[in-house]
Amino acid sequence: MTSDEIRALTQQYIMPTYGRFPVVIDHGDGSRLYDPEGREYIDFTSGIGVCDLGYGCQPWADAIAAQAKKLGHVSNLFYTEPAARLAEILCKRTGMSAAFFANGGGEANEGLIKLARKYSFDRYGQGRATIISLKNSFHGRTITTLKATGQEVFHNYFFPFTEGFRYADANDMESLNAVAGEDVCAVLVELVQGEGGVLPLDKAYVAALSKLCAERDWLLLVDEVQTGVGRTGKLFAFQHYGVTPDALTFAKGIAGGLPMSGILANEKCRDVLGPGTHATTFGANPVCAAAALVVQETLSDAFLEEVTNKGRYLRESIEAMKLPCFGKTRGLGLMIGIAVNDGYSNRELANRLIDNGLLVLTAGAGMRLLPPLVVTKDEMDKGLAIMKQVLS
Ligand SMILES: *Cc1c(COP(=O)(O)O)cnc(C)c1O
Repeated sequence: MTSDEIRALTQQYIMPTYGRFPVVIDHGDGSRLYDPEGREYIDFTSGIGVCDLGYGCQPWADAIAAQAKKLGHVSNLFYTEPAARLAEILCKRTGMSAAFFANGGGEANEGLIKLARKYSFDRYGQGRATIISLKNSFHGRTITTLKATGQEVFHNYFFPFTEGFRYADANDMESLNAVAGEDVCAVLVELVQGEGGVLPLDKAYVAALSKLCAERDWLLLVDEVQTGVGRTGKLFAFQHYGVTPDALTFAKGIAGGLPMSGILANEKCRDVLGPGTHATTFGANPVCAAAALVVQETLSDAFLEEVTNKGRYLRESIEAMKLPCFGKTRGLGLMIGIAVNDGYSNRELANRLIDNGLLVLTAGAGMRLLPPLVVTKDEMDKGLAIMKQVLS
């Protein structure tokens, strides 16, 4: 099919929930993507932080094919090796005690919220179920995770929303204390707010927050759906901050492109969701887990250091261009935000870059780059050259 035919069919038969860019993607290689007519794009999006090993990665594709032939699905009524091995690796690399596997970020956060409320219910009974989240956060698209998201624009249309969320300003302990109370059971944060604009939390704030949570027996919940799995140059972003969450969620990059997510919980929280309290049919799917094992094998310490170096290279190169539309860059590793100057629209800038062969993302009022973690110097230089040529 041609790009025109695919666009027309999509518009006729798929619900209009997305404001898509007018590009059809057919296949990829490394950090390059191609449309059906063979037009090349440099990809600084990795499918919104998912395809950390890029496209056409041979060991990843081989592991998926082998596992699909062996066993594609069997449900959590039985034991399977790929999920067991993946859980062990994730726990050993983070110091956490146990994993729960699900399928998407919003769903993992739903489970995290259930875990926090049940932890508190088991210890203190009812009436202590409020979760404080941060303004400008993003936690998902289910009714409950929309309400957990600290942005008013998301609290619309779908009334009634789940009760029991309050919002504090990021990096502001006074604001947090102002919404604290006897009814609180947990605080939920992204350490680098992704959709909100790639806004890292301050180390001192996170340390103070962690201390307060420990004092009050509030769970410190970290949404690592976007920051996790090597994106920031550590396996998980909390490893930059010198704190340990009680529980965290992961998703996007965990299986390099297949749908998988989950929760990691510490010793205190590992048994909170006992038999019958939480479940998902597809969770811990062996094919997804086999793909995730290849991701884990790839993300060595040396590889993660390269992620940091590449992120630095991209940010320094972009700042050195001194483009009229861009201000400072921010972020961690290959999770990069670029401030867009007054008078420019990030959506329009993204359109122009995409038109010219460089796929980028927006976040908040800025630009966002999430290249595959395997992006090469050559691919970065090609993308930077397009950026310079189009935006100078
Ligand atoms: C993408 C994202 C989600 C939602 O994940 P889905 O897989 O789309 O449900 C939740 N939290 C954060 C921080 C995200 O970046």
